[in-house]
Amino acid sequence: MSPIADRLAEVHSRLERAARECGRDPATIRLIAVSKRHEPAAMRAAYEAGQRDFGESYVQELTQKAEVLGDLPDMRLHLIGHLQRNKAKQAVRAASAVHTVDSTRLADELGKRAAPVAPSRAFPIGGATSDKLVVFVEVNVGEEPQKSGCRPEELSAVLDAIEGQPALRLAGLMTVPPYTDDPTGARPYMDRLVDLRDRHGGPGRLPEISLGMSHDLEQAVFAGTTIVRVGTAIFGPREPVR
Ligand SMILES: *Cc1c(COP(=O)(O)O)cnc(C)c1O
Repeated sequence: MSPIADRLAEVHSRLERAARECGRDPATIRLIAVSKRHEPAAMRAAYEAGQRDFGESYVQELTQKAEVLGDLPDMRLHLIGHLQRNKAKQAVRAASAVHTVDSTRLADELGKRAAPVAPSRAFPIGGATSDKLVVFVEVNVGEEPQKSGCRPEELSAVLDAIEGQPALRLAGLMTVPPYTDDPTGARPYMDRLVDLRDRHGGPGRLPEISLGMSHDLEQAVFAGTTIVRVGTAIFGPREPVR
């Protein structure tokens, strides 16, 4: 096995252990391999080991990887970094899902720009695929000034804006909790996101929670996440931004 296949297997066992520990079915937790600032070859190795969902933070990098890896017909790219409205058109051409909708204006722009997603690249929500662009609302639950994401009190308007766009499929909520060395420190923020979900329609309206990274994925599973976004634990450390 390649080192990446080994590490991917290790992440799956961490997820399974955590799910067992809190009585959840591991099949209800999906893994996005965060490949930002890693080479397409590393993504190919993960793909060969069965991984299909990949997360990218920058629109330009996502677009380039979509091109270089265009021969992998059922690979899905998720945009997990902040999206500027003037890049929405570029993003929707290559992404199966956008996890970072944080304003009504961005929701409107994505709705206007979204093109039908090919069936092989559609990310299923609630067991069903459609040709709509799957979107999540990013909420800044820690209310950290340097972070993107809407404020909790703006959430309702952003959700309504998404539901007003026929080309978008509302999947759920996403956040990056404030960093703490001890992953249990992130737990109150994770619980806050799940609580927001429950106060804005619950799993019927918002079936997915996108939460949990390399160092805190167990805590995210305990909090009830349905999607974890894991980079370092699969691909190793990233090149610094130049
Ligand atoms: C980079 C990134 C991740 C993955 O972080 P790791 O610590 O490498 O697992 C997850 N989510 C977002 C939004 C990221 O930018």
